[in-house]
Amino acid sequence: MADFAGKCVFVTGASRGIGAAAAREFAAAGANVVLAARKGDEIAELAGEIGAQALAVPCDVSRYWEVEAAIQAAVGTFGSLDVLVGNAGVIDPIGHLQDNDPDAWGHLIDINVKGVFHGMRAALPVMKAQGGGSILTISSGAASRPVEGWSAYCASKAAAQMLTRSLDLEERANGIRAIGLSPGTVATDMQRDIKASGINEVSQLDWSEHIPAEWPAKALVWMCSAEADDWLGGEISLRDEDIRRKVGLI
Ligand code: NAP
Repeated sequence: MADFAGKCVFVTGASRGIGAAAAREFAAAGANVVLAARKGDEIAELAGEIGAQALAVPCDVSRYWEVEAAIQAAVGTFGSLDVLVGNAGVIDPIGHLQDNDPDAWGHLIDINVKGVFHGMRAALPVMKAQGGGSILTISSGAASRPVEGWSAYCASKAAAQMLTRSLDLEERANGIRAIGLSPGTVATDMQRDIKASGINEVSQLDWSEHIPAEWPAKALVWMCSAEADDWLGGEISLRDEDIRRKVGLI
């Protein structure tokens, strides 16, 4: 495993699921980790479990000023910002487009699209000033195909994918490594909500078909290595057996 000693990794949506697993995995690799999410108690608990190399910063990614302040807190505490994991995301509202509440639809966009942009926007000046960094964003198969009842989610993941591509186009020459991770289906609270909705084929999947959150967490750590440079500006799919092998999952 790469040595992250002295590096600072900022994870949005670190209170549970993939984000919490990623924070644990980067910390195990030696990184200082900054846990950002709305539920302050949950990130504080996880930071306590990880120890002195973790900082919990309550933050709603839909508000730019909160993201910017959280990144400043990260740099103030650990002295740098080397990796940003744009992981925070929601699936609701689930339902047919015609039935969706416009405000709820817009709020998902505020989190899943603007939240990703906010992280990139706030991280860039810091990373560029120190010579570069990795900006990894959690994508989804929903970025490239419609899924019944998920118009907001699919639209948001397509937009986030384009943000990664745009970032790569503009900033690769400045040392910014932008890559997306499409994890497949992962056993988290989000899949519990999907199952409860009963609305499409994903909700019918047997729980045993989902991969554990530790898998995308390990993939994110691997994505910080030069071995993942072939995917700059693109996406890594954890459904790909070759990738699973490279990450050391099989
Ligand atoms: P999860 O268990 O529901 O966790 C979502 C995380 O996002 C939580 O930590 C939540 O924390 C945070 N979050 C939500 N809204 C936020 C906001 N406004 N500001 C800050 N943090 C916020 O879901 P997950 O499965 O781990 O999902 C993580 C990412 O993976 C998402 O982007 C999701 O779209 C993507 N993904 C998941 C799957 C899957 O099968 N699970 C598949 C493909 C992609 P708080 O509630 O404390 O804010």
